[in-house]
Amino acid sequence: MTVPTALPPYAEGLHRLGAVTSTYLQPDGGFGLSNAGVVARGDDTLLVDTFFDLAHTRRLLDAIGRPVRRCVNTHDNGDHCWGNQLLAQEGAELIGHRHCAEDMTKISPAVLGALLRMPPDTVLGRYFAGAGDRFDFDGIEVTPPTTVFDDELTLDVEGVAVHLVHVGPAHTRSDVIAHVPADGVVFCGDILFRLCTPLGWEGDTDTWIAALELIATLDAGTLVPGHGPVCTPAAALEMRDYFEYVRAEARSAYERGVTLADAAASIDPGPYAAWAESERVVSIVARNYREFGAGDGVDPVTMLTWMAQRWEADSHPRDGAD
Ligand SMILES: [Zn+2]
Repeated sequence: MTVPTALPPYAEGLHRLGAVTSTYLQPDGGFGLSNAGVVARGDDTLLVDTFFDLAHTRRLLDAIGRPVRRCVNTHDNGDHCWGNQLLAQEGAELIGHRHCAEDMTKISPAVLGALLRMPPDTVLGRYFAGAGDRFDFDGIEVTPPTTVFDDELTLDVEGVAVHLVHVGPAHTRSDVIAHVPADGVVFCGDILFRLCTPLGWEGDTDTWIAALELIATLDAGTLVPGHGPVCTPAAALEMRDYFEYVRAEARSAYERGVTLADAAASIDPGPYAAWAESERVVSIVARNYREFGAGDGVDPVTMLTWMAQRWEADSHPRDGAD
């Protein structure tokens, strides 16, 4: 295994990971602040993910400072692909899982932008106030991959192999990881969140756990999460442990007859409470209940509303009971 001598600091910008790999990090990794990967050799450059809007993606491309020939999207969430059009305009090939191409246009930047700019007298407005100010969704033309695959695809970057593996449905239907054995690096997309609570959309807990265990067993000492600082395989196993902890808590609540709404509002992330965005536990509890057979889960807006309510309750606890 290629063991990293030192992990890069968690600072905004491009950081070298090995002979051919780099990552662009966007602290603090909160809503919309994702990481990207770069594999470059000779005149060939492969990018792993673009960013949430055009301005953030231009910063990424300026830092790379050389033409990008191909770009892989790890999944279809906007914070990993809504800068794609800047690459398509330059003639770059866009690559992703078949579901990534199918699902990318299901949420429009205008609709999400309106959600992020809800008035401050709504709980979603207060929750998303920071993100609504940070990103500009004007002018985004969602541009899905045109080269798609189902299970695996290996790319060649001037003799360097990049293995793309579909590991979903876990965070979304289209989850893909990019493994670069030459440098012992895995770009994990949102299969891995580091020191930040995972947010789940389509997928199931067992598939997500299997994906994390796969990442931990690859011959790779350096993991780039979709959000958060660069880390080692221990981080993938720690996130697996988070899922198992929350599932046990959710199981206990379910068997005591606690409703999903009440469980989502109250289940304590225990040893993981210090991870950022702890209110996202709501999304994990909702999928746990669905997996226990308690209904079909909840729609995304309801889930975001419950998360916002939990965030507000956690951030601004009321003094005593009234
Ligand atoms: Zn993300």
